Amino acid sequence: MWGWRAGALLRGWGRRLVGAPGRRLLSCHAASQAGNSAPRCWKCGSPRGPARGDGLFCPQCSALQPPDPTRDYFSLLDCHHSFRIDTTKLQRKYQQLQRLVHPDFFSQRSQTEKEFSEKHSTMVNEAYKTLLAPLSRGLYLLKLHGIDIPEGTDYEMDNQFLVEIMEINEKLAEAQNEAAIKEVESTVRAKQNEFTENVSKAFEQDDFEKAKEILTKMRYFSNVEEKIKLKKTPL
Ligand SMILES: [Zn+2]
Repeated sequence: MWGWRAGALLRGWGRRLVGAPGRRLLSCHAASQAGNSAPRCWKCGSPRGPARGDGLFCPQCSALQPPDPTRDYFSLLDCHHSFRIDTTKLQRKYQQLQRLVHPDFFSQRSQTEKEFSEKHSTMVNEAYKTLLAPLSRGLYLLKLHGIDIPEGTDYEMDNQFLVEIMEINEKLAEAQNEAAIKEVESTVRAKQNEFTENVSKAFEQDDFEKAKEILTKMRYFSNVEEKIKLKKTPL
């Protein structure tokens, strides 16, 4: 008698476990829209409400959960969706997350959790790198607003700007000593700081066209920065 009941219970439990991944996959998209189908733990099937460690771990069995593909980098690193961010806070959040998900801490755990930790760790690194540098942060923020600037496109650059870039490139090519390279470097840095300030204002005013224009210019200057780095590297 008891055996039959236990068997039925186990079968029911089994169905819940089997059903869980399907519901979780659906809920990835549905959760943000409907807001009522909480994702479930891949291991024990418990609902994963707001839990410790940014909801990374199951509150019941502590298993590491898979990354949420619907979360963007800003939300992942606990930042407002704005260009102006507190980079000290960003770094602190990054370190805090890496201490939770770094693969080194999962060497004794299941293969599934190892794989999740690799994915989390890669995503956290990518998010941090993207949001730290003004250019990539701006491009990413534009992308979230549905605006892409494909690499290598000359986005209606005015002649004056193109001449300016050409002159800086020539100056760098001609630079024969460290002092000359440093001079170009400080010109480029001053320009980038000015652009960063202006793109910040453009985003604050929701002027995405302006932001796009400035970010495109920043990308030109970023290419010069790369050339400076190469030139400074001793052969
Ligand atoms: Zn669990």
